[in-house]
Amino acid sequence: MEQVLSRLFFFNMKPESLMMSYGYKPQLSEGAIKCPIFQTSTFVFKSAEAGKHFFEVAYGLKEPEAGEELGLIYSRINNPDLEILENRLTLWDEAEEGAVFESGMAAITTVLLEFLKPGDLLLTSNPLYGGTDHFISKILPKFGIHVASFKVGQSQEEIYKIVEQTGLAANLALIFIETPANPTNDLIDIAGSKEIASHFSTSDKEVLLAVDNTYMGPLWQHPLKLGADLVVYSATKYIGGHSDVIAGACLGSAKLMKRVKGLRTFLGNMASPNTGWLLMRSLETLKVRMDAQTLNADKVAAFLNTHPAIEKVYFLGNLTPADGVAYAIKQKQCLSNGAMISFDIKGGEHEAFMVLNALKLIKLAVSLGSTESLAEHPASMTHADVDLDLRNELGITDKMIRLSVGVENYEDIIFDLNQALNTLLTKV
Ligand SMILES: *Cc1c(COP(=O)(O)O)cnc(C)c1O
Repeated sequence: MEQVLSRLFFFNMKPESLMMSYGYKPQLSEGAIKCPIFQTSTFVFKSAEAGKHFFEVAYGLKEPEAGEELGLIYSRINNPDLEILENRLTLWDEAEEGAVFESGMAAITTVLLEFLKPGDLLLTSNPLYGGTDHFISKILPKFGIHVASFKVGQSQEEIYKIVEQTGLAANLALIFIETPANPTNDLIDIAGSKEIASHFSTSDKEVLLAVDNTYMGPLWQHPLKLGADLVVYSATKYIGGHSDVIAGACLGSAKLMKRVKGLRTFLGNMASPNTGWLLMRSLETLKVRMDAQTLNADKVAAFLNTHPAIEKVYFLGNLTPADGVAYAIKQKQCLSNGAMISFDIKGGEHEAFMVLNALKLIKLAVSLGSTESLAEHPASMTHADVDLDLRNELGITDKMIRLSVGVENYEDIIFDLNQALNTLLTKV
């Protein structure tokens, strides 16, 4: 009863108001206002009978009683830091359940392995994060899983054709997309991808849609509300947000998450209690950080749009109704312009490296979504593994620099970019 009342009280509150308290009961931890780090591998059972019951529920041999929470058993199966963190993460995407992992790749690969089996067809968008792309194109085929992919801008009809031409349309099991695409900010239609999944679903086979929401989530895009079945995150990025932790997350319905968590138990790729604690700390400032980052990104993009050393800026805020489909997708699914900007400088790798080497406040590093601004060279760094022809086709060329905008004062970010870009102007 107490639990029901407290749920009702908090029901209408915004996630940012609940990040400091949701799911944590101080009286269970000596009144500590913050959830301690439960640095423990195993948990003492009150009795042998209680231990037996916990296992029955954990392994699905018995249904939990109404309102019963899974008893604590062993930290590969459950741990308070992970459970409270998972409950808090569900609030942003309005998911029924969540699971946290030791990395974004662990979350992604667990989803792919759980929902695909030999003979199945996987459909993906292109480009994908380098690690995801490697796992899908190099590792999944070893298990007899077939892969087809479509590119940004292809119509639903073209995508139907791609699937049918594989001759394996009946085996399509999962669609995996990433939007906006890294590093070009190209958009894939989430609701449209769900329509593709439904088109190939039959009465005895539901094609699932999983979305990598790392670039825009969990604040600026909510794939589950747009029809996705699962959403995955590299929590290393905005969710962690301080460049000090590697972690991942997956969210979805209770039914699907039971399977994801089941495989996680046996792969053993859950996050550690310490990681869970760090991420809970990060979640408290998630909204203020992301708000500051997207405001800064608008200012920085406006500056880049006018700099004479720059040829093209890839930023969601630059889309206008003249961009047609891309603009329509943005209006439909993006709640902000995000804080990722890529730009082509006039020149090639040499000039791009000159700019990167001249940056002082902005750090030259891969990763994104952190408090500090980061810049990198996709063609030779994050996307070096992508086939050259595909890279050119996708517009990931030697002249491109990717920028993750942080929480610094935007005037200082712009000052640093300006002095670095100006090294190109004095050269000619
Ligand atoms: C970083 C990243 C990943 C991988 O996450 P890790 O935490 O590094 O394992 C997956 N997808 C996207 C879009 C990313 O940016």
